[in-house]
Amino acid sequence: MKRDRSVQLFAEALKVIPGGVNSPVRAFRGVGGQPFFAQRASGARVWDVDDNAYIDYVGTWGPAIHGHAFAPIIRAVQETAERGTSFGIPNPLEVELAKLVLAFVPTAEKVRFTNSGTEACMSAIRLARGATGRDVIVKFAGCYHGHADSLLVKAGSGALTLGNPDSAGVPADLARHTLVLPFNEPEALRAAFAEHGARIAGVIVEPVPANAGLYLPRPGYLELLRELTAQSGSILILDEVMTGFRLAPGGAQEVFGIRPDLSTFGKIIGGGLPVGALAGRADLMDLLAPLGPVYQAGTLSGNPLAMAAGIAALKALQDRVAYQRLEQLGAALESGLRRAAKQAGIPVQLQRIGSLFCGYFTSQPVWNLDDAMSSDRGRFAQFFHGMLERGIYLAPSQFEAGFISTAHTEQDIEQTIRAASDTLGDIQSGRTRPVV
Ligand SMILES: *Cc1c(COP(=O)(O)O)cnc(C)c1O
Repeated sequence: MKRDRSVQLFAEALKVIPGGVNSPVRAFRGVGGQPFFAQRASGARVWDVDDNAYIDYVGTWGPAIHGHAFAPIIRAVQETAERGTSFGIPNPLEVELAKLVLAFVPTAEKVRFTNSGTEACMSAIRLARGATGRDVIVKFAGCYHGHADSLLVKAGSGALTLGNPDSAGVPADLARHTLVLPFNEPEALRAAFAEHGARIAGVIVEPVPANAGLYLPRPGYLELLRELTAQSGSILILDEVMTGFRLAPGGAQEVFGIRPDLSTFGKIIGGGLPVGALAGRADLMDLLAPLGPVYQAGTLSGNPLAMAAGIAALKALQDRVAYQRLEQLGAALESGLRRAAKQAGIPVQLQRIGSLFCGYFTSQPVWNLDDAMSSDRGRFAQFFHGMLERGIYLAPSQFEAGFISTAHTEQDIEQTIRAASDTLGDIQSGRTRPVV
C-alpha cells in the first residue's frame, strides 16, 4: 500500500504539532509505524490522502454510529450553518436536543451541554463535590473520563496506551483526593466505602469500561455500586460518553437497569461535532450556575451546528431499529473472528457488547485492567498492521474498543473476517510484514 502523501504530511506535522497529532492515540505509538491522513469518509469507509480505502472500525472513536457523512446530519449542519455558526445566545436547537436526551435517558431530568466529554466529566465531578461538600472522588483503574486533573489518575485510553496513566502536571495534592479501585472487585469497593464512605463525594465509572479495551461488569457489581453510594450519600456518576446512545437509546443504564444520580455523555450526542453533556437529577443539576453555586460555562456550549448534528443523530436512533441491526452485525463479526482465531490456534479473548468489541491477545479471561495488561501487545501490533495492509482500520492500540456502525454491511463483515483469518495465519507462521 502506497502512503507517500501521508508520510510527507506527517513529517510536516511533526514540525508544527507536538507528536504530529492533536490527540495522542492517533500517533500510532501503541503499534509502531505512523498514521495515515484522512482525505474523506463515507458510510463505513475512510479514504486516506493517497486514496487507499479502509473499512473503518474506529468511527471517529465512537460518534459515527450511523457511519460517516450520514446524509441527515450533513443536511442539518449545512442548513443550520446558513443561518450563522455561533450566537452565544440561547437558540431553539438547544431546547430540542435537551428534550430528546430526556426522552432517551431514563434518569435525565435536566441536561447541560458542553463541548466535549472531558468537560462533561470534569463538571460532573465539580457538581458532586459541590453538592456533598466532600472532596474524595472514586474512580477505577483503566477507566478514562477525559483529561481533567482529578481524573487523570490511573486513566485508560491514550494515557494507558502511552504508558502514562498518571499524568505529569497533576498536583499530588489534587490526586490525593482521587481514590482508585480495581473494577469488578466487590470486596475492594466494600472496604473503600467502609473506610472512607463519609468523605466520598462521588464515584465515576464507565458502566462498561471501554478505554482499556473492553470488559463487562460482573453481574451485581453495578448494583453494589449503586447501593453503597446511596448508603453513604455519595453521588453515582455513570460516564456514558462511550456507551450512551450506543448500547441502547438509554445507554448502559437502560441495559443494566441502574439509576445513577448523574450521567455524562459525548461522542454520539454530537453526531461528529464537538459536544458533551451532563444530565441527571433535577435537584443536583439546579446547583449549576446561574441557579446554584457550582460554576460551569462555555462560549461555544450549545453551539447551533453541534446541536443540529446531535438532533439528527439521535432522531435516527429513536425507533430502535438501528440497535437490532448493530447486534446482528456485531454477532456476525464476533463469531467469525472467534473462528479465525481458533483456526490459527492463537489465544484471543473476544469481548463484545452490541456494536462495541475488542480482541485481547491473551488466554486469560478479562474482567479488569490487570487482566487486560496480560495481553500480548507485540502480537496486537502485528495484527493491527496486517489488517491495515488489507484495508481494515482498527484502533491503533490494544487498549481501545472497536466500533460497528449501521453503515457496515454483511460484506464488510465478511471481508474483515477474511482479512483477520489471513493476518492471524501470517502471525502463526511467522510471516509478518514490514511496518510502514
Ligand atoms: C471519550 C471519552 C471521554 C472523553 O471525551 P472527549 O470528548 O474526548 O473529551 C470521557 N469518558 C469516556 C468514557 C470516553 O470514552
